[in-house]
Amino acid sequence: MFLNRRSSREESMKRRFPTEPSEDEQKTLASWRLLFESPKYVADLNASPGKDEPVFGFEIEWDDLEQFGELQLELTESMEHTLACGNQVLKEQYSDRVMSTRPVIRIVNLPSSRYYEMSELRMRDRTRLLAFDAIVVRASPAIGWLKVSTHRCNDCGLKWTINERLARPREKVKYCSDCLDAIVKDQSSKKPRSYYKDPTDVSMVAEENFYEDVQYLEVISPLMTKNGMALNQECFQVVVFDEYVGQFSRGAHLTINAMVAVDPLVNRDFIRDTRRMIYLKAHSVEEGLSNTSEESVDASVIDSLPPN
Ligand SMILES: [Zn+2]
Repeated sequence: MFLNRRSSREESMKRRFPTEPSEDEQKTLASWRLLFESPKYVADLNASPGKDEPVFGFEIEWDDLEQFGELQLELTESMEHTLACGNQVLKEQYSDRVMSTRPVIRIVNLPSSRYYEMSELRMRDRTRLLAFDAIVVRASPAIGWLKVSTHRCNDCGLKWTINERLARPREKVKYCSDCLDAIVKDQSSKKPRSYYKDPTDVSMVAEENFYEDVQYLEVISPLMTKNGMALNQECFQVVVFDEYVGQFSRGAHLTINAMVAVDPLVNRDFIRDTRRMIYLKAHSVEEGLSNTSEESVDASVIDSLPPN
């Protein structure tokens, strides 16, 4: 008899969370399940939105979250993790309906308390989810980024994934945890071996990496067309993901629901430069302005700005 660890390990690799979900995580997953099993969202799901598309943004009203556990609070405190739980549940709903589309939750219609004038953004706003009225001035080409890298131990075959960070150095892969555990265990045994295989002999499995489409937009607020900031070449960077890539062009009026983030300066002189600039990591994008009237936009200013 032997314990077939290989197959159980591969089973666990398929799951989003390699270990059992914690109590908090189970609560979050249960709240999302209740939401997707509520009549309104069951009706939405039964219409098979995004069928035959590789990725689809599934819209959820902010106000609807209130009825399901603490989702609003959890999103405020830990947006990425709460969304990851929700996306996992939504993916199950799509799989149940035999759809291969990769759905992503897009929360829309944030409350007016979250509207924010872009030109007033400061470092203290970092990590807040806010809604901005924005006009696109420039759009970069679509690019991709390595979101999740997959690695394999060349000795024991263990595979694992690493969540990478956008526009940051790729995480260093140091060693295979199984092989290292085995070495440590052996060293404390009665008859330790004199030679061990190298636990750092690890390769990336390129074909199992996960890439995401991204695009950078340069945007201004309506106010910035009137207060001289736009004419002074000031603008904000917004990064959009997945189904939003390639959708917006110069002059588009948008409501951007985004996490306020910071990045190193583009033109820094030295690598450890501590200066940072604010940018917006878009979570969802809605057509049209939500908080300002069309009259508050001076379109002639936008026309006068250089397109590149
Ligand atoms: Zn190994």
